[in-house]
Amino acid sequence: MDRKHAELMLQLARSLDIAVNPSAEAVYDPRDDRVFVWATPDDHPRTALWEGMVPGMRPGRLTKPCGFAGYFQFDFAGIDEVYRVIIHPVFRGSVEDVDWIHSKLTSLAAAAEVAVDVPVVNFSVVEAENALEDEIRRGTERDRKSLLETHSRKWRIPTEEKTYYGFYVDGEAEIQVLSNRDPDAWYLLSPAQIMSDEFGWGDNGRASQETALCVLLDYFDETLPVEKLDTSMRFALPSKAFVNHTLFRKGMIETLEPGKAWVITGRQIKEWLEENAVVCASCAGSGTQPDGLYCAVCGGSGYRSDFFHVS
Ligand SMILES: [Zn+2]
Repeated sequence: MDRKHAELMLQLARSLDIAVNPSAEAVYDPRDDRVFVWATPDDHPRTALWEGMVPGMRPGRLTKPCGFAGYFQFDFAGIDEVYRVIIHPVFRGSVEDVDWIHSKLTSLAAAAEVAVDVPVVNFSVVEAENALEDEIRRGTERDRKSLLETHSRKWRIPTEEKTYYGFYVDGEAEIQVLSNRDPDAWYLLSPAQIMSDEFGWGDNGRASQETALCVLLDYFDETLPVEKLDTSMRFALPSKAFVNHTLFRKGMIETLEPGKAWVITGRQIKEWLEENAVVCASCAGSGTQPDGLYCAVCGGSGYRSDFFHVS
């Protein structure tokens, strides 16, 4: 397989671009040497996660309802040879997602009459290679979590592109923030250690409360001054995340299945807030008064706070 063959596939992918072609098999989105692949309600990886996401799929700017599944990338050796094809799913570690993206690669290759006679590898292989180069492999091989953390950089992801993914590593609850446009952009959330020093979901405990708070803090791009919280919870009132997190825990985090992975998109949080959070009537959500001080009614968050009104 050489660059000519890759070009044939990229060319076909451009005619099957999900942004312009309404036909069912048009689920591609080629960018340089990568082909992004979108899952649709009728054609997606066979996992409970994706089943759960189907009702929420919307076309957005594209031609059909869909969710971003990941990409495959031609890895060129030198100028002309394709050395291998790398599959990069959005949901890390999902064998079903890798297989599904692989099937999209295979059908595109067949339609372009190209034989993929090079290795097709999961990105985690590439990641492990990079880790080796960085001489950080020692000790991390057995420990998937530290590998995750090593690669986790604090990317800036626009709120409307964010997806929250809760899953377990070695029995420990982790939350990953992903971009629904770019699988290279992601990071792990750390507990803010205000309610608990660990995440959880599926009950009304402190770990679920911590999850609700940290997801909203990330969603609103806020931080809480933990040292001030020891003195008075009043310092948390200007925080949109803080005033809404108990409601969010009850409405969303508590309803998740304990012990199972889950996905909540930024759009779902936006819709949930629109339906459930109560905007402060006094400041119309701005959080400030005409004199520039925090709104005296909501305390500065712009939302009516249960915390504030419960005496
Ligand atoms: Zn207000």
